[in-house]
Amino acid sequence: MNVPLLDLQAQYVSLRDSMLQAIERVMESQRFVLGDEVRELEKSVAQYCQTKHAIGCASGSDALLLALMALDIKQGDEVITTPFSFFATGAAIARLGARPVFVDIDPATYNLDVSLVADAITSRTRAIIPVHIYGQCAQMDPLLDLGKRRGIPIVEDSAQAIGATDNERPAGSMGLVGCFSFYPTKNLGGAGDGGILTTNDDAIAERLRRLRTHGGSDEYQHEEVGINSRLDELQAAVLNVKLSSLDKWSDERAHIAARYSQLLSDADLDFPLITPHVRPDGRHIFHQYVVRAPGNRDALMDHLKTRGVGTKVYYPVPLHLQKCFSSLGYKEGDFPESESAARETFALPAYPELTEAQQLYVVESIKSFQPLVHSFSETA
Ligand SMILES: *Cc1c(COP(=O)(O)O)cnc(C)c1O
Repeated sequence: MNVPLLDLQAQYVSLRDSMLQAIERVMESQRFVLGDEVRELEKSVAQYCQTKHAIGCASGSDALLLALMALDIKQGDEVITTPFSFFATGAAIARLGARPVFVDIDPATYNLDVSLVADAITSRTRAIIPVHIYGQCAQMDPLLDLGKRRGIPIVEDSAQAIGATDNERPAGSMGLVGCFSFYPTKNLGGAGDGGILTTNDDAIAERLRRLRTHGGSDEYQHEEVGINSRLDELQAAVLNVKLSSLDKWSDERAHIAARYSQLLSDADLDFPLITPHVRPDGRHIFHQYVVRAPGNRDALMDHLKTRGVGTKVYYPVPLHLQKCFSSLGYKEGDFPESESAARETFALPAYPELTEAQQLYVVESIKSFQPLVHSFSETA
């Protein structure tokens, strides 16, 4: 059997007709950038995320960049975030000449350890970016309180978390700005790059609309220097079709995740395998189902590969150890939880179309893994 980490083909087959009709509609209109499809998507996403505004843009990376531009983040400023994320989170900060200030993660959820954030605040801190990693919200209440007390805006990197909630509040609706990605492999993925920003703040929304079109609210009149980061009609048309299935898909992901955790805990493995911790006060949409195999990660992944099971590490190199950030002066050992997560975790196939037979095969494949005797001493 072959079980890929993700099977976009299976999803496409289920929506082919309506997707091709939507694409044809755009082709017939010959309107390709910021038109009716984008307006409809912005309206639907705002409603879905329970925010007043949603502003389409070219990618999740640009959404982060635009959010920080709208907050006037510049050289000399500091922005606090997690080192255990996709590169774009740190890059958006650095791209504006500001300094990413990293804070370690909670090893149970892999999200920012909010108890460590207060100590990282200085007089130069201008924003805090929690990342809702793998589709589970960071613990927002203490962060929102802290931000309010210290006058520091919160930007939610919700790229992996559309539809996730924290105490019934949707990802992207709690901070000043939410940033989403429609990269094809995300839970709501387009047919190429795309992104969207959410906010309840009228002034920020207007500024974001201006910044994504070269800083001008009127053609050829530029109040400031922005960037070109617009959302395509083709992307929006595809996303409008998919959005109506998103909740069903997220429920199926959560169902698959619960079944993995049950099967793996029943399996009585003779090596440690830690399944995801799901916070009781929120909805985890399982962008990834990530397990932890202390001492055995790489050998277990190799074993699964020989059995035809796709796996991947998200993310093998924490941001503070990226070469391009070496001038920040961080070193190995600075964020031990992020570093051990990078060493010990990997994702299993967990997408809505995964069949029960495929899932049982993945679990059987894990059960058949024989750890090397010396592997336990590696963790000491
Ligand atoms: C995917 C992702 C991004 C970037 O989104 P793109 O659309 O690929 O630019 C940013 N942050 C996180 C956490 C992501 O997973």
